[in-house]
Amino acid sequence: MTTLLEVQELSRDFGGVRAVNQVNFQVREGEILALIGPNGAGKSTVLNMVSGVIPPSEGEIRFQSKPMTRVPGYEYAGLGITRTFQNLQTFDDMTVLENVMVGMHTKTRSSLFACGMNLGSAKREEKMMEQKAHAWLGRVGLAPESQQLAGSLPYGKLRLMEIARAMVAGPKLLLLDEPAAGLNHTETAEMSRMFCEIRDSGTAILLVEHDMDMIMTIADRIVVLDQGTKIAEGTPREIQENPRVIAAYLGT
Ligand code: ADP
Ligand code: MG
Repeated sequence: MTTLLEVQELSRDFGGVRAVNQVNFQVREGEILALIGPNGAGKSTVLNMVSGVIPPSEGEIRFQSKPMTRVPGYEYAGLGITRTFQNLQTFDDMTVLENVMVGMHTKTRSSLFACGMNLGSAKREEKMMEQKAHAWLGRVGLAPESQQLAGSLPYGKLRLMEIARAMVAGPKLLLLDEPAAGLNHTETAEMSRMFCEIRDSGTAILLVEHDMDMIMTIADRIVVLDQGTKIAEGTPREIQENPRVIAAYLGT
């Protein structure tokens, strides 16, 4: 299978502390790769580097063979990488629809330049964006709430709104940082089903998540970090039986 994202010898220091230490892995087209590990293992730091939020201290990140380490963060969505955050990043006084349309910002601005501020086509573009945002709100089950203020939505629905926002740009790779945190069992199961649909429709997923049921059900492969270092990689079954992984989780 074709490699979409390749991470080589990736490291990140904060002050004197090495949070991520020479990590290697690949995300292939059409897969859900889960990145797991105890608290403080470096999972969010890896996602932050892979999404251009912070630069690596050392190492290489290639997306579709293109070196990404010097690409500014705002170009990532246009290139096909979008993400959600461990802590919700929502605009409470904007509508749900507007929150989702924020995800298309990068793309619009460049096309506005491309058409030389032609207002007619800018309007058409705006309309098209709105339709796309509506379509994604429908897919995550938030169509009835599209005109409500985001601040009035319960937590579980805001998590879904963030996924719609990340998907509306049509990414090739979706990065998710603990998307099921704070969700109940039904909501988590519903979200798992949605991630499988997203994968099956051609967007690969790099998933950081603590919910082991979700991981073991939907991940095609798993990479395990412990204290910044990769300690295992394999299928869900291989990982469940791996003594180093069991030790890292049980603290023995
Ligand atoms: P995880 O997401 O696996 O729980 P993180 O990537 O958030 O772990 O953190 C890994 C380590 O890096 C932790 O020791 C954390 O305290 C440290 N760390 C993360 N971000 C920063 C930061 N901005 N400044 C200093 N230390 C950080
Ligand atoms: Mg984290």
